[in-house]
Amino acid sequence: MIRPPRPDNESQRQALLARYRILDSEDERAYDDLVTIAAGVCNTPIAAISLVDGDRQWFKARVGLPVNQTHRDISFCGHAILQPDQAFVVPDAAADVRFHDNPLVTGELGVRFYAGAPLLTPEGEAMGSLCVLDNAPRELSESQLEALRALSRQVMHLMELRRISASLAEQIAERDWYELQLQRYQEELEVQNADLAAQTRTDPLTGLPNRRALAMALRMAMDKHMAGRGEGVCVALLDVDHFKVINDVHGHAIGDLVLVALADMLRSHSAGGMAARYGGEEFVILFPDSTAEQARLQCEFLRNAATLLPVNLPITVSIGVAECRRQDDTPDAAFKRADEALYAAKRGGRDRVVLAP
Ligand code: GH3
Ligand code: MG
Ligand code: MG
Repeated sequence: MIRPPRPDNESQRQALLARYRILDSEDERAYDDLVTIAAGVCNTPIAAISLVDGDRQWFKARVGLPVNQTHRDISFCGHAILQPDQAFVVPDAAADVRFHDNPLVTGELGVRFYAGAPLLTPEGEAMGSLCVLDNAPRELSESQLEALRALSRQVMHLMELRRISASLAEQIAERDWYELQLQRYQEELEVQNADLAAQTRTDPLTGLPNRRALAMALRMAMDKHMAGRGEGVCVALLDVDHFKVINDVHGHAIGDLVLVALADMLRSHSAGGMAARYGGEEFVILFPDSTAEQARLQCEFLRNAATLLPVNLPITVSIGVAECRRQDDTPDAAFKRADEALYAAKRGGRDRVVLAP
C-alpha cells in the first residue's frame, strides 16, 4: 500500500478548508441529494462527498458507506486531491500496487473500483472529492465521468454558498452590534450635552439663570417686542446695599446664605419674567410684558420682600428700572439706563427703587 503523500501547499489547503466550517457538520439534504445522484448516474452502490482533513477523510454525505470517516492514509481521496485538474480513477484496486492491501479493499467493504472528481475551490485547491466506488473492477463511460465532474462542481457551489451566507449573517450581526453601540454613545452624548448646556446657563451658587441666559432671554423679549406684540419690555437691576459689610462682619458663608435667600425670593416672584444673577450681589429682573409703571410697582414689592428675608440680618436692596421704549432701543441701551437708575437709587440713600427717565 502506498500512503497518499501530502500536497506541497497542505497548510494553505487546510486553511481554505477551515473557511467552509463544514467538517463535522450535521447531515444536509442538499449534499445527500448530490451523492444519491452521483451513485445513480454512475450506477455504483457507494458514493460519497469526502473532505480531506489533516489525518482523516470525513464524509459530508454518503451512500453505501457504513462509517463517516477513515484515516487519511488509507483514503483513495487523499490520492485524488494530488491531481486537482482531473478525475482520479482506479479501475481495479486489487491489481493496483497503491491499494491492493488497503483495508478498504481487503476488508468487509471490499472496494475494487474508485472514481473521484476533486472538489475545487475558486482558487483551484482540492478540498476532497466527490467519489463513487464499486465492489467489482470496472470503468466509467466518458459521459458518466463528465457527470461526476459536473456534480463535484455543484457540491463546491453549495459549499461556497453556505460559506458566503454564513459570513454575511455574521457581518450583519456585527454591523447591528456596532449600530447599537453608536446609538447608545450618541444618547449618552446628548444627555451630557443637555447637562452642559444647562450648566453654562445656570449660576452654581443660587441656581438662578446667569448673565448669559439673561442676555438670551432679553434678546428674545426684545425681538417679540419689536414684532409689535404685547406691552413693553422692562429691565431692572438690583444690588444689595452694603453687602461688603455683611461679608466683613458675618463672614463670606453668611453672605452666601443671604444671596441664596434673596435668589429664592426673586425666583418665586418672577413668574412671567425672569430673575438672573448678574454677578456678585447684583441681580437682574426681566419684565417681558409690562409698562414702566407696572415694573416699578413690582420692584417696590421686591424691595420690600428683601427686607423680610428669613436671614436674621437687616437686608435692604436698591433697584434701578428702565423700559425699552422705542422700536430701535437695544437691550444694552435699556440696561445702561437701568444701571444709571440703580446708581441714582444708591446716591439717593439706598433701599429704594428708581425708574429711569
Ligand atoms: P453698595 O451698597 O454700594 O452696593 O455697597 P456694597 O458693599 O454692596 O458694594 P461693593 O460692590 O463694594 O461690595 C460688594 C461685595 O459683594 C464685595 C464682594 O466681596 C461681595 N461678593 C461678591 N460676590 C459674592 C459672593 O458670591 N458671595 C459673597 N459672600 N460675597 C460676594
Ligand atoms: Mg455691587
Ligand atoms: Mg452692593
